[in-house]
Amino acid sequence: MADGAPVGLRYPWETPPEQGRAIEVAPGVLWMRLPLPMKLDHVNIYALDDGDGWTVIDTGFASNKTRGIWRDLMGGPLAGKPVTRVVVTHHHPDHVGLAGWFQTEFGAELITTRTAWLFARMLTLDVQDTPVTETLEFWRSAGMDAEVFEQRAAERPFNFGDVVAPMPLGFTRIQQGQSIKMGGRTWDIHMGNGHAPEHATFWSRDDNLVISGDQILSSISPNIGVYATEPMADPIGEWLEACERLKLLARDDQLVLGGHKLPFTGLPTRMRQLIDNHHGALARLSAYLDTPKSAAECFAPLFKRKIGAGEYGLALVEAVAHLSHLYQDGAATRHRRDDGAWVYQRKG
Ligand SMILES: [Zn+2]
Repeated sequence: MADGAPVGLRYPWETPPEQGRAIEVAPGVLWMRLPLPMKLDHVNIYALDDGDGWTVIDTGFASNKTRGIWRDLMGGPLAGKPVTRVVVTHHHPDHVGLAGWFQTEFGAELITTRTAWLFARMLTLDVQDTPVTETLEFWRSAGMDAEVFEQRAAERPFNFGDVVAPMPLGFTRIQQGQSIKMGGRTWDIHMGNGHAPEHATFWSRDDNLVISGDQILSSISPNIGVYATEPMADPIGEWLEACERLKLLARDDQLVLGGHKLPFTGLPTRMRQLIDNHHGALARLSAYLDTPKSAAECFAPLFKRKIGAGEYGLALVEAVAHLSHLYQDGAATRHRRDDGAWVYQRKG
Protein backbone atom coordinates (compact mmCIF):
# COMPACT_ATOMS: atom_id res chain seq x y z
CA MET A 1 0.00 0.00 0.00
CA ALA A 2 1.31 3.47 -0.88
CA ASP A 3 2.47 5.63 1.97
CA GLY A 4 0.79 8.83 0.80
CA ALA A 5 -1.28 10.47 3.52
CA PRO A 6 -5.00 9.67 3.25
CA VAL A 7 -7.19 12.69 2.49
CA GLY A 8 -7.34 15.07 5.45
CA LEU A 9 -4.19 13.73 7.15
CA ARG A 10 -0.76 15.30 7.37
CA TYR A 11 2.60 13.67 7.96
CA PRO A 12 5.06 16.03 9.72
CA TRP A 13 7.88 13.62 8.78
CA GLU A 14 7.78 12.02 5.34
CA THR A 15 10.81 9.84 6.05
CA PRO A 16 11.10 7.42 8.98
CA PRO A 17 14.23 7.20 11.14
CA GLU A 18 17.02 5.00 9.79
CA GLN A 19 17.93 1.81 11.58
CA GLY A 20 19.69 2.59 14.87
CA ARG A 21 18.66 6.26 14.71
CA ALA A 22 15.86 8.27 16.32
CA ILE A 23 13.74 11.29 15.43
CA GLU A 24 12.70 13.52 18.34
CA VAL A 25 9.00 14.06 17.57
CA ALA A 26 8.40 16.19 20.69
CA PRO A 27 10.63 17.23 23.61
CA GLY A 28 11.85 14.03 25.29
CA VAL A 29 9.97 11.72 22.90
CA LEU A 30 12.01 9.65 20.45
CA TRP A 31 10.59 7.75 17.46
CA MET A 32 12.57 4.71 16.28
CA ARG A 33 11.96 1.72 14.03
CA LEU A 34 12.74 -1.97 14.07
CA PRO A 35 12.55 -4.25 11.03
CA LEU A 36 10.00 -7.08 10.64
CA PRO A 37 10.53 -9.98 8.22
CA MET A 38 7.05 -9.63 6.67
CA LYS A 39 5.10 -7.61 4.11
CA LEU A 40 4.58 -5.02 6.84
CA ASP A 41 8.33 -4.66 7.25
CA HIS A 42 8.71 -2.48 10.34
CA VAL A 43 7.29 -1.59 13.74
CA ASN A 44 7.54 1.83 15.37
CA ILE A 45 8.87 2.10 18.89
CA TYR A 46 9.10 5.16 21.09
CA ALA A 47 11.25 6.14 24.05
CA LEU A 48 10.11 8.72 26.59
CA ASP A 49 12.67 10.52 28.73
CA ASP A 50 11.88 10.14 32.44
CA GLY A 51 15.01 11.98 33.57
CA ASP A 52 16.86 9.10 35.21
CA GLY A 53 15.80 6.52 32.62
CA TRP A 54 13.63 5.77 29.62
CA THR A 55 10.16 4.38 29.24
CA VAL A 56 10.02 2.42 26.03
CA ILE A 57 6.77 1.85 24.13
CA ASP A 58 6.70 -1.59 22.42
CA THR A 59 9.72 -3.69 21.53
CA GLY A 60 9.78 -5.44 18.14
CA PHE A 61 10.25 -9.18 17.50
CA ALA A 62 12.72 -11.18 19.56
CA SER A 63 15.66 -11.95 17.27
CA ASN A 64 19.40 -11.53 17.44
CA LYS A 65 19.09 -8.81 14.84
CA THR A 66 16.60 -6.70 16.83
CA ARG A 67 18.50 -7.27 20.09
CA GLY A 68 21.56 -5.89 18.29
CA ILE A 69 19.66 -2.86 17.01
CA TRP A 70 18.33 -2.23 20.51
CA ARG A 71 21.86 -2.26 21.89
CA ASP A 72 22.86 0.26 19.19
CA LEU A 73 19.89 2.43 20.14
CA MET A 74 20.76 2.25 23.84
CA GLY A 75 24.34 3.30 23.15
CA GLY A 76 23.23 5.88 20.55
CA PRO A 77 20.02 7.93 20.78
CA LEU A 78 19.24 6.66 24.31
CA ALA A 79 22.69 7.85 25.37
CA GLY A 80 23.45 5.02 27.77
CA LYS A 81 20.62 5.96 30.15
CA PRO A 82 18.80 2.80 31.33
CA VAL A 83 15.47 1.55 30.03
CA THR A 84 13.59 1.34 33.33
CA ARG A 85 10.07 0.63 32.02
CA VAL A 86 8.62 -1.12 29.01
CA VAL A 87 5.04 -0.29 28.11
CA VAL A 88 3.39 -2.81 25.77
CA THR A 89 0.30 -1.56 23.92
CA HIS A 90 -1.05 -5.01 22.99
CA HIS A 91 -0.05 -8.67 22.97
CA HIS A 92 1.00 -9.09 19.31
CA PRO A 93 4.57 -10.37 18.84
CA ASP A 94 5.89 -7.30 16.99
CA HIS A 95 5.01 -5.27 20.10
CA VAL A 96 5.62 -7.63 23.04
CA GLY A 97 8.51 -9.60 21.47
CA LEU A 98 11.36 -8.34 23.62
CA ALA A 99 9.45 -7.31 26.76
CA GLY A 100 10.70 -10.37 28.67
CA TRP A 101 14.25 -9.65 27.52
CA PHE A 102 14.07 -6.11 28.93
CA GLN A 103 12.79 -7.56 32.21
CA THR A 104 15.38 -10.27 32.64
CA GLU A 105 18.37 -8.60 30.98
CA PHE A 106 17.93 -5.03 32.22
CA GLY A 107 15.55 -5.32 35.19
CA ALA A 108 12.95 -3.17 33.46
CA GLU A 109 9.37 -3.05 34.74
CA LEU A 110 6.76 -4.37 32.29
CA ILE A 111 3.58 -2.29 32.13
CA THR A 112 0.64 -3.53 30.07
CA THR A 113 -3.00 -4.60 30.27
CA ARG A 114 -3.96 -7.79 32.05
CA THR A 115 -5.38 -9.31 28.86
CA ALA A 116 -2.26 -8.45 26.87
CA TRP A 117 0.00 -10.01 29.49
CA LEU A 118 -2.10 -13.16 29.93
CA PHE A 119 -2.42 -13.69 26.18
CA ALA A 120 1.27 -13.10 25.50
CA ARG A 121 2.47 -15.35 28.28
CA MET A 122 -0.06 -18.09 27.47
CA LEU A 123 0.93 -18.08 23.80
CA THR A 124 4.67 -18.16 24.48
CA LEU A 125 4.14 -21.27 26.61
CA ASP A 126 1.89 -22.98 24.03
CA VAL A 127 4.38 -24.77 21.79
CA GLN A 128 2.87 -26.70 18.86
CA ASP A 129 4.84 -28.90 16.46
CA THR A 130 1.81 -29.51 14.26
CA PRO A 131 -1.51 -27.64 14.14
CA VAL A 132 -3.87 -28.82 16.89
CA THR A 133 -7.30 -30.33 16.10
CA GLU A 134 -9.10 -27.09 17.00
CA THR A 135 -7.03 -25.13 14.50
CA LEU A 136 -7.70 -27.65 11.72
CA GLU A 137 -11.40 -27.52 12.55
CA PHE A 138 -11.30 -23.72 12.48
CA TRP A 139 -9.62 -23.67 9.05
CA ARG A 140 -12.17 -26.16 7.72
CA SER A 141 -15.01 -24.04 9.09
CA ALA A 142 -13.56 -21.01 7.32
CA GLY A 143 -13.51 -22.92 4.02
CA MET A 144 -9.73 -22.72 3.67
CA ASP A 145 -8.55 -23.59 0.18
CA ALA A 146 -7.87 -27.38 0.07
CA GLU A 147 -4.31 -27.01 -1.19
CA VAL A 148 -3.42 -24.45 1.48
CA PHE A 149 -5.09 -26.66 4.09
CA GLU A 150 -3.09 -29.77 3.14
CA GLN A 151 0.15 -27.84 3.22
CA ARG A 152 -0.51 -26.08 6.52
CA ALA A 153 -1.81 -29.22 8.22
CA ALA A 154 1.56 -30.89 7.58
CA GLU A 155 3.75 -27.93 8.59
CA ARG A 156 4.97 -26.71 11.96
CA PRO A 157 2.63 -23.78 12.60
CA PHE A 158 3.69 -20.27 13.56
CA ASN A 159 4.68 -20.43 17.22
CA PHE A 160 4.50 -17.27 19.29
CA GLY A 161 7.62 -18.31 21.17
CA ASP A 162 9.61 -18.28 17.92
CA VAL A 163 9.55 -14.47 17.89
CA VAL A 164 8.73 -13.60 21.50
CA ALA A 165 11.32 -13.87 24.29
CA PRO A 166 10.36 -15.92 27.38
CA MET A 167 8.24 -13.82 29.71
CA PRO A 168 9.08 -14.02 33.40
CA LEU A 169 6.38 -13.79 36.06
CA GLY A 170 5.29 -10.31 36.99
CA PHE A 171 3.96 -7.17 35.35
CA THR A 172 2.20 -3.93 36.28
CA ARG A 173 -1.38 -3.67 35.13
CA ILE A 174 -2.91 -0.61 33.47
CA GLN A 175 -6.65 -0.19 33.02
CA GLN A 176 -9.25 1.95 31.29
CA GLY A 177 -9.65 5.34 33.00
CA GLN A 178 -6.26 5.36 34.74
CA SER A 179 -3.40 7.72 33.96
CA ILE A 180 0.35 7.22 33.81
CA LYS A 181 3.32 9.59 33.97
CA MET A 182 5.84 9.16 31.14
CA GLY A 183 8.28 11.56 29.53
CA GLY A 184 7.29 14.44 31.82
CA ARG A 185 3.65 14.22 30.81
CA THR A 186 0.52 12.72 32.31
CA TRP A 187 -1.28 10.40 29.90
CA ASP A 188 -4.88 9.23 30.12
CA ILE A 189 -5.24 5.55 29.35
CA HIS A 190 -8.05 4.42 27.06
CA MET A 191 -8.60 0.87 25.91
CA GLY A 192 -8.99 -0.10 22.31
CA ASN A 193 -10.39 -3.45 21.16
CA GLY A 194 -10.89 -5.40 17.96
CA HIS A 195 -7.33 -5.53 16.59
CA ALA A 196 -6.25 -6.98 19.93
CA PRO A 197 -8.29 -7.35 23.11
CA GLU A 198 -7.65 -4.69 25.76
CA HIS A 199 -5.26 -2.67 23.63
CA ALA A 200 -3.88 0.34 25.52
CA THR A 201 -3.74 3.84 24.02
CA PHE A 202 -2.25 6.92 25.74
CA TRP A 203 -3.52 10.51 25.48
CA SER A 204 -1.31 13.31 26.83
CA ARG A 205 -3.02 15.82 29.11
CA ASP A 206 -0.12 18.23 28.78
CA ASP A 207 0.37 18.55 25.05
CA ASN A 208 -0.95 17.14 21.78
CA LEU A 209 0.56 13.64 21.78
CA VAL A 210 -1.37 10.40 21.37
CA ILE A 211 0.33 6.99 21.51
CA SER A 212 -2.07 4.74 19.63
CA GLY A 213 -0.33 1.39 19.10
CA ASP A 214 -2.11 -0.48 16.30
CA GLN A 215 -5.60 0.65 17.30
CA ILE A 216 -5.18 3.77 15.16
CA LEU A 217 -2.80 3.77 12.17
CA SER A 218 -2.37 6.34 9.42
CA SER A 219 -2.32 4.65 6.01
CA ILE A 220 -3.36 1.06 6.70
CA SER A 221 -6.44 -0.38 8.33
CA PRO A 222 -5.44 -2.55 11.32
CA ASN A 223 -6.06 -6.27 10.76
CA ILE A 224 -9.11 -7.57 12.61
CA GLY A 225 -9.35 -11.34 12.84
CA VAL A 226 -11.11 -14.25 14.50
CA TYR A 227 -8.94 -17.16 15.66
CA ALA A 228 -9.44 -20.73 16.86
CA THR A 229 -8.85 -19.47 20.42
CA GLU A 230 -12.28 -17.84 20.42
CA PRO A 231 -14.23 -18.82 17.29
CA MET A 232 -17.31 -16.81 18.25
CA ALA A 233 -15.49 -13.60 19.10
CA ASP A 234 -16.89 -10.46 17.44
CA PRO A 235 -13.81 -8.25 17.02
CA ILE A 236 -15.51 -6.10 14.35
CA GLY A 237 -18.22 -5.17 16.85
CA GLU A 238 -15.58 -4.49 19.49
CA TRP A 239 -13.49 -2.47 17.03
CA LEU A 240 -16.43 -0.26 16.07
CA GLU A 241 -17.38 0.27 19.74
CA ALA A 242 -13.79 1.25 20.63
CA CYS A 243 -13.38 3.58 17.65
CA GLU A 244 -16.69 5.35 18.35
CA ARG A 245 -15.51 5.88 21.93
CA LEU A 246 -11.98 7.02 21.05
CA LYS A 247 -13.34 9.30 18.31
CA LEU A 248 -14.73 11.54 21.05
CA LEU A 249 -11.18 12.24 22.28
CA ALA A 250 -9.81 13.18 18.85
CA ARG A 251 -8.63 16.70 18.03
CA ASP A 252 -7.16 18.14 14.85
CA ASP A 253 -3.97 19.34 16.56
CA GLN A 254 -3.04 15.93 17.99
CA LEU A 255 0.11 14.21 16.77
CA VAL A 256 -0.64 10.49 16.62
CA LEU A 257 2.24 8.08 17.22
CA GLY A 258 1.17 4.67 15.95
CA GLY A 259 2.75 1.22 15.90
CA HIS A 260 3.33 1.22 12.13
CA LYS A 261 3.64 3.74 9.27
CA LEU A 262 4.09 7.48 9.85
CA PRO A 263 3.04 9.78 12.71
CA PHE A 264 0.20 12.03 11.58
CA THR A 265 -2.23 14.80 12.42
CA GLY A 266 -5.89 14.88 11.43
CA LEU A 267 -7.17 12.34 13.94
CA PRO A 268 -10.90 13.23 13.78
CA THR A 269 -10.77 12.56 10.02
CA ARG A 270 -8.82 9.33 10.48
CA MET A 271 -11.27 7.99 13.07
CA ARG A 272 -14.13 8.60 10.64
CA GLN A 273 -12.20 6.83 7.86
CA LEU A 274 -11.36 3.82 10.03
CA ILE A 275 -14.98 3.43 11.08
CA ASP A 276 -16.36 4.03 7.57
CA ASN A 277 -13.91 1.51 6.05
CA HIS A 278 -15.46 -1.31 8.04
CA HIS A 279 -19.04 -0.20 7.46
CA GLY A 280 -18.18 -0.08 3.76
CA ALA A 281 -16.67 -3.56 3.86
CA LEU A 282 -19.70 -4.95 5.70
CA ALA A 283 -22.06 -3.42 3.12
CA ARG A 284 -20.08 -4.85 0.17
CA LEU A 285 -19.93 -8.23 1.89
CA SER A 286 -23.63 -8.26 2.61
CA ALA A 287 -24.41 -7.47 -1.04
CA TYR A 288 -22.16 -10.39 -2.07
CA LEU A 289 -23.98 -12.87 0.17
CA ASP A 290 -26.97 -13.37 -2.11
CA THR A 291 -25.97 -17.05 -2.19
CA PRO A 292 -24.25 -18.95 0.69
CA LYS A 293 -20.49 -18.37 0.81
CA SER A 294 -17.62 -19.38 3.08
CA ALA A 295 -15.05 -16.96 4.49
CA ALA A 296 -12.47 -18.08 1.92
CA GLU A 297 -14.93 -17.21 -0.86
CA CYS A 298 -15.35 -13.62 0.33
CA PHE A 299 -11.95 -12.05 -0.34
CA ALA A 300 -13.09 -10.16 -3.46
CA PRO A 301 -15.70 -7.86 -1.87
CA LEU A 302 -13.61 -7.33 1.28
CA PHE A 303 -10.17 -6.59 -0.09
CA LYS A 304 -10.83 -5.49 -3.69
CA ARG A 305 -7.43 -6.87 -4.71
CA LYS A 306 -5.75 -10.21 -5.24
CA ILE A 307 -4.64 -11.96 -2.05
CA GLY A 308 -1.20 -13.57 -2.30
CA ALA A 309 -0.01 -16.65 -0.42
CA GLY A 310 1.78 -14.49 2.17
CA GLU A 311 -1.46 -12.69 3.06
CA TYR A 312 -3.82 -15.67 2.87
CA GLY A 313 -3.89 -16.38 6.61
CA LEU A 314 -4.56 -12.78 7.63
CA ALA A 315 -7.18 -12.38 4.89
CA LEU A 316 -8.97 -15.52 6.04
CA VAL A 317 -9.24 -14.51 9.71
CA GLU A 318 -10.41 -11.06 8.64
CA ALA A 319 -13.09 -12.55 6.37
CA VAL A 320 -14.31 -14.78 9.22
CA ALA A 321 -14.50 -11.71 11.47
CA HIS A 322 -16.67 -9.76 9.02
CA LEU A 323 -18.98 -12.70 8.25
CA SER A 324 -19.38 -13.61 11.89
CA HIS A 325 -20.21 -9.99 12.70
CA LEU A 326 -23.04 -9.98 10.14
CA TYR A 327 -24.25 -13.33 11.52
CA GLN A 328 -24.10 -12.28 15.18
CA ASP A 329 -25.72 -8.96 14.29
CA GLY A 330 -28.69 -10.84 12.81
CA ALA A 331 -27.97 -9.64 9.26
CA ALA A 332 -26.97 -13.09 7.92
CA THR A 333 -27.74 -16.76 8.48
CA ARG A 334 -25.25 -19.59 8.27
CA HIS A 335 -25.20 -23.36 7.88
CA ARG A 336 -22.59 -26.11 7.56
CA ARG A 337 -21.79 -27.13 4.02
CA ASP A 338 -20.89 -30.76 3.22
CA ASP A 339 -17.17 -29.89 3.24
CA GLY A 340 -17.42 -28.62 6.84
CA ALA A 341 -17.32 -24.92 6.00
CA TRP A 342 -19.75 -22.45 7.53
CA VAL A 343 -21.48 -20.69 4.67
CA TYR A 344 -23.23 -17.38 5.23
CA GLN A 345 -26.14 -15.80 3.42
CA ARG A 346 -27.68 -12.40 3.87
CA LYS A 347 -31.17 -12.22 5.40
CA GLY A 348 -33.94 -10.93 3.17
ZN1 LIG B 1 1.69 -4.29 15.07
